[in-house]
Amino acid sequence: MSTSDPSGPKRPPLPPGPYLVVGLARSGVAAAKALVALGARVYGTDSGNPPGAGRLAELGVELELDGDGIQLLDEVKTVVKSPGVPAEAPVVAAARERGLDVIGELELGWRLLDNRFAAVTGTNGKTTVAEWLGHTLREAGMEATVAGNVGTPLASLPGEIDPSATIVCECSSFQLEDSLAFAPEVAVLLNVTPDHLDRHGTLAAYAEAKLRIFSNQTPEDTAIVDADDPVVGEVELPGEAIREPFGIDACADEQRCAVSFADGEIRDSGGVLVRADELPLAGEHNLRNAMAVAAAALASGADREGVARGLRSFAGVPHRLERVRELDGVVYVNDSKATNVAAAAAALAAFGSGVHAILGGSLKGGDFADLTPAVRAHCTACYLVGEAAPRLRADLADAGVPLHDSGDLATALADAAAAAVPGETVLLAPACASFDAFRDYEERGERFRELVAALEGGT
Ligand code: ADP
Repeated sequence: MSTSDPSGPKRPPLPPGPYLVVGLARSGVAAAKALVALGARVYGTDSGNPPGAGRLAELGVELELDGDGIQLLDEVKTVVKSPGVPAEAPVVAAARERGLDVIGELELGWRLLDNRFAAVTGTNGKTTVAEWLGHTLREAGMEATVAGNVGTPLASLPGEIDPSATIVCECSSFQLEDSLAFAPEVAVLLNVTPDHLDRHGTLAAYAEAKLRIFSNQTPEDTAIVDADDPVVGEVELPGEAIREPFGIDACADEQRCAVSFADGEIRDSGGVLVRADELPLAGEHNLRNAMAVAAAALASGADREGVARGLRSFAGVPHRLERVRELDGVVYVNDSKATNVAAAAAALAAFGSGVHAILGGSLKGGDFADLTPAVRAHCTACYLVGEAAPRLRADLADAGVPLHDSGDLATALADAAAAAVPGETVLLAPACASFDAFRDYEERGERFRELVAALEGGT
């Protein structure tokens, strides 16, 4: 499919420089470099000194590290805010007070790229769907690059990718919060459940940030939502895109939905695309993810056979229901990325019963009561770790399942391995972030893999 637009660039121009990039982790560094490449004057600031930030000085970026960056506002006209920087950060608040333009790195990257965009957001499933969609578009013979919230920052792509490639862009609520004109040709909202309420305040504010993905879409664009989602399934979407929902229950009447599910088959307007038992990833949540991928790939111009091939052949993403090992008939599964209650509940539900679940980590402003039904239905026992353990113990008291205080991950795994019998599963699905004990969920998942690899069988 051709993406070059004969009428010239369709993006709005960047607000005027000089620019101050606030937050110099991966996406901030990419933003600063992209602006330098345009010949702009660029300043950078970070309250710490992240690795890689100092090297920007060699490119002519004037830096203030370990500081608030407020004096630099005298020098600039526009602030580029990294998603990790809260809206209340003093330099951002001061910039707004002075009437400076404040844009996010997502907005910046999008304005610098004329490619078609398929953007994916939601509380859970973003990375899985973005990677699965990129894979599926490629299976359908299209060029696709996955970028955004994790992995490759969008701002690192200008000048690096073919203009005919579709950019599959994973968007977090923090990135969408700072978008202004961002208008992807295809936008997907997977689900909205409580998460990050420490930064967004209320579920309504969080949902609003996610819905911004649709705000600037035109009638030529496509908006894809899970029609079964209790928060956004029935909500009137902002923007003017054609609404193409997918779903299971709400799509029993196939006419309403672009992609529906019946009799074990995923269908679109052309008939059956794939059977659910052909999908490579387990759990109802991954069935929904597959439907989102199908709808987005078709809306992006992929052919039906290519979409079916892509749905069948995806290898999955590490730390998401990743099967690590089977030992003495017990399967060990790493879902370290389950950093909130909905993700952990989805992970538990991917197994029938007999789950020994390792739960806990750091707290981020929510409670765990909503995990109770999944624990009751699927768990034999839970092993609680980290700062969240007392809260988990209190909130899961009614689940009717033994709750063990294991303290840390190594002890929890040893306790679970000792208790599990053949046919059962030991699942790391913490329902919490990892910052009390690990750098991030990846380090936690890697540690889990190492600990599992070191288990000795035959006991
Ligand atoms: P994100 O990028 O939104 O964090 P991931 O694809 O990394 O999403 O998955 C995060 C966690 O959520 C994993 O634990 C995964 O098993 C679970 N998950 C994936 N898709 C869904 C979904 N559609 N609904 C609920 N949980 C999901």
